[in-house]
This record gives sequence, C-alpha cells and structure tokens, in this order.
Amino acid sequence: MPNPFDSQTLAEAQARLRVLEDEQRVAEAIFRTTQPVMVTDARAHILRVNQAFCDIMGYRPEEMLGNTPKMFRSNHHDAAFYATMVETIQRTGQWSGEVWDRRKSGDVFPKWMTITAVPDASGTVTHMIACYTDLAERQRAREEIERLAFHDVITGLANRALLHERLSEATRQAGSSGEYAALLLLDWDDFRSLNDSLGYPQGDALLRLAGQRICACVRASDTVARPGGDEFAIVLHPTSDRRDQAAAQTEAMGTRILQTLAEPCHIGGTDYQGSASMGVVLFADEQLDANALLKQAELAMYDAKHNSRGSLHFFDSQLEQAVSERMRIERELRAGIAAGQLRLHYQPQVTGQEGQLAVVGAEALVRWQHPRQGLIAPGRFIALAEETGLIAALGRWVLQTACEQLAAWKGRPAFAHLVLAVNVSAAQFLEPGFTQQVLELLASTGAPPGRLKLELTESLLVQNAEAVIATMSALQAHGVQFSLDDFGTGYSSLAYLKRLPLQQLKIDQGFVRDLETDGNDATIARSIAALARGLGLTVIAEGVETAGQRDLLAAMGCTTYQGYYYSRPLALQDFEAWCLRQAGVAA
Ligand code: C2E
Ligand code: CA
Ligand code: CA
Repeated sequence: MPNPFDSQTLAEAQARLRVLEDEQRVAEAIFRTTQPVMVTDARAHILRVNQAFCDIMGYRPEEMLGNTPKMFRSNHHDAAFYATMVETIQRTGQWSGEVWDRRKSGDVFPKWMTITAVPDASGTVTHMIACYTDLAERQRAREEIERLAFHDVITGLANRALLHERLSEATRQAGSSGEYAALLLLDWDDFRSLNDSLGYPQGDALLRLAGQRICACVRASDTVARPGGDEFAIVLHPTSDRRDQAAAQTEAMGTRILQTLAEPCHIGGTDYQGSASMGVVLFADEQLDANALLKQAELAMYDAKHNSRGSLHFFDSQLEQAVSERMRIERELRAGIAAGQLRLHYQPQVTGQEGQLAVVGAEALVRWQHPRQGLIAPGRFIALAEETGLIAALGRWVLQTACEQLAAWKGRPAFAHLVLAVNVSAAQFLEPGFTQQVLELLASTGAPPGRLKLELTESLLVQNAEAVIATMSALQAHGVQFSLDDFGTGYSSLAYLKRLPLQQLKIDQGFVRDLETDGNDATIARSIAALARGLGLTVIAEGVETAGQRDLLAAMGCTTYQGYYYSRPLALQDFEAWCLRQAGVAA
C-alpha cells in the first residue's frame, strides 16, 4: 500500500486523479451529446440517462431510474431475441442491433442500440452502457423507398412489380383454396388523343381519377395497379370454387368498373367522356405465373378493343392461337420492312377504246416478298400494319419508292406522263408530319408533284374531316392530286365531299363486279359517275374484268378504267413492257 504522503506517490496520485478527472469530463460530455445514452448496473437497473434519452423515450429521469429496460419492451421481439442479446454481451462484452421499443406515449419505434459492458479491474462487469440511434427517420426513408419502388407515382396505386407480387400471392391462394381468382386488365380507348389535345397534366389527372373510380368499385383486399401507360390491372382475390360463379361475379365487377370509367368528368376545364376496354382471365391454380396471366389478360383486352371498344372480354385459348399468329406476322413484317422485303406492283389505269388505248398511269400496290411464304398480298398485312403502327414505316417506303419511280420516269418520254396512284391509310394520313414527309420525299427524289396521286378512303373523312381537308389542301397547293378510293362503300357526307380538294372518284369494284346482272349496282355506278361530273371530278372504275363491264361504264360517262380486263398488277419491268406494247413500241 503506497504511502499517500510519500511525495513521489503523491505526484503519481495527483497525475492519476487528473487523468480520472479528464476521463470524467469526457464521459460527461459524451453524456450531454444528442445521442441517447443509458447506464445501468450489472443487473440492468437504470442508474443514469441523459436528456436525449428522456426526449426519445418520453419519460422523466425519475420515472426510469431504478427500473430495468424491460419497461420499454414492445411485443415486437420474442424472448429468444433478448436471450441472445444477453448471451452475446456476456460472451463478447457488446451487442448491437435493431430494437423496437415502446415510448411512454405507447407508440413503438425502431432504433439502433449498442450495449457495452463495463468491467472493473478484476474483469467483473459493473455497468452497462446503452447508446441509441433513432431509426424512425431511417425507417421512414426505407418505407418511402419501398413505396416508390412498389407504387406508381401518378396514381399511388401498385406498380408492375407489386402487381406481379400480388398476382403470385393470388395464384398461391387460389391453388390452396381451390377457388377462382381473376385478373382484369383495362386500357383506355383513346387516352393518347386526350393526352395530345389537353396535355400531360390533364392526362395524369384522368389517370388519378380513373384509379379512384376503380378503387371505389373493388374490395379493400383486392389489388388495383397501374402497370404502366393508360393500363390498369385489378387482381380480384378468390371468390368461388365454381368457375361459372366466379366468371359471373368477375364480369359484374368488370362491367361496373367500365361503367364508372365511362361516366363523364371534368378535366382541365373541359368535359371529358372516355371509355376503356377490358380483358379478363380467371385462374384457380399455380400452373401459370404472373407473366403468363398478364399476357392472357392482354390478349383478351386487345380482343375486346378490336371487336367492340368499351367492352369486356374473357380470355380463351383459340383467341390465343389467333393472336400468336398475328404476333408472328407482326414480328416478321417489322423485320421484313427493315430488310427490304416490300415490293411495289403497278396496275395500269387506262382510257379510250381497244386499238387506241392510252395508259394514263398506274396504281402502286404493295406486296411482301416473304422469305418462306413467297409473295404475300396486302390484304393479309395492311390491316395488321395499321393496328400495330407499322403502317408508318410501310407507307413511307411505298411513298418513297413511288416518288423514286416517278423521278426515274421523268426522263423517259414513254413514261413521263404517267400518274402514279398511291394508297394512303387513314392512320398514315393523319400522322402529324405527313404533309412534310410527302413534300420532303418529292423534293429529295425529284419526282414531279403533279404526277403523284394519293388514294384516300371515305373512312378517313368520318374520323376527322377538318384535319383531312387541311392536309389535302396543303399538298394540293404543291400539285399533288387526290382520288377517293372504294367510293360508295363508306358514308361520305356530300357536304364534305363538296369541300374536299379532290380530282377523282374511284367507283369501288364491289359495284363493278355484278354490273351486268345487278340493276342496283348499275344504278349506284351511274349515280357515282353523275355525282363526279356534277362536282367537276373525273371518275375511274376499278375491278373491270370484262368488255361488257367496260361498255356499261363507258355508257354511264366513266372514262378511265383499271382491272384484270386490261392487266393484273405487274412488277416494274413487266409493267413498263406492257405500256410500251400498248403504245405499239416493241419492248
Ligand atoms: P384497293 O386500293 O382497292 O386496290 C385494288 C385491289 O383490287 C388490288 O388488290 C388489286 O389487285 C385488285 N384488283 C385490281 N383489278 C381487279 C380486278 O379486275 N378484279 C379483282 N377481283 N380485283 C382486282 P391488292 O393489290 O391485293 O390490294 C388490296 C388492298 O390493299 C388495296 O385495295 C388497298 O386497300 C391495300 N393496299 C395495297 N397497297 C397498299 C399500300 O401501298 N398502302 C396501303 N395503305 N394500302 C395498300
Ligand atoms: Ca386503291
Ligand atoms: Ca379500291
């Protein structure tokens, strides 16, 4: 035992005291930090807490001192959790982890806790220090990240990822209960035009409103999701173990949803009334995964859209076959256009009688040179190209090729007068940059604009007469001509017809076919010819197969003809040779 009065030991003791005082100060400082700290004795009785600790737990110090931390326990952890904590401290002297404690107010919150055992000189633990980090903030951030990762920003509904999860859950449920669950997929019929005309903020507002309307129809346990675009998906949890019952219930629900969506609303200062089409698939086992179910619902939805917009269709497997065939053609056509598999054939348009037949031009008709199936007629792919948007690329190719041909004929006297008629689909014609595209193609190829004739159909007028007239006028100002194809089969308003900058009506081949036997067809053909004359337009008959048809048409005042009686559509070389033969020049 050192003598405290021994001068050397005194100095040592003073030095040690200074160290202890320093440590004490540091410890006090640590205690005053904003990090919550609690000190207990070896048996976990609370000896000291700092202000930050009181703040976070909501207790005053005297309410805690002498108690044990058990007073903070929530039901979040089981006994094994605390046993592991104690065991770890005993073994290693420290434990860290996430702890959910209860504040005085009763709410449970997460925090990161580090407990350090403090041993004395002999190694016996005398105290324990617990430091807390409030994880609530981190937890909120984590929840926000989760919300963002699994929810759509615009509507707050489940996104595609969460939809997949819920679908998998529903298939598991259905699999174990033997009941039918359903996936409903719906898509607005004309969302794009709303977005284009009113702008994206209004489009978003409509999506939000749609989400609210759908949610109001379904049960809280069902999932409403917006997997993307203007699509919504609804997962109806299992309802019945009988397919017919489940189908009836699902149909009733789907119809209700479509009805509420079709109700008028007020968006961005304008009244809007839209409609949606819906595809439905029922499932009662785990054979199909979420992707396959979505695919089937999508097929049914497209089926609904094509047959009757605003309706609901159930998936069936025949439909699947038809659609997969369509998808194959679409895929191959897309690749085929890029690979240069399209061809133009030319069908002569003539005037005059035998012996003095004059070729006035040709109709350019597209074909697809398929690598395995040979030459495919446009009847098999034009409609599909229109529905899938491929018509833009296809139509552009046709126009470009036709313009190049006109430019090539420009320098050849035998062909320089020919007018080339090009079919233009409604979707292609209404595309915003169409006028520009035609003018650019005319300029870049050097084709004479007056030799280009665009064939439009009446269906175009039904959709958007004013825009059509504007586009036609803009092109006509450069000399481009227009012919109204398949005339008589649509519902042309005569009032519009008068305003259209047209040069020609084309009597549909449907009226020409039975001209010699069907009095009604003859009457219609005669009326069209008279109408054309009255409006100052030329008239051409298509599908002329016999001399008899041609004679009747001539008697009605029709002067120009096209049809197998003269020639089938021909490849370029054959067409040129045909023209030269008509002109009496050897090919
Ligand atoms: P369309 O414009 O009515 O073209 C006339 C169709 O009638 C052509 O069929 C032609 O081969 C056929 N035809 C011509 N003369 C006769 C005849 O005397 N008797 C009979 N029974 N048929 C005759 P094709 O080439 O199969 O074209 C079918 C349709 O495909 C066209 O009907 C047109 O709507 C569309 N089409 C063709 N090429 C294009 C194109 O480049 N763009 C667009 N958008 N559509 C095209
Ligand atoms: Ca045509
Ligand atoms: Ca036609």
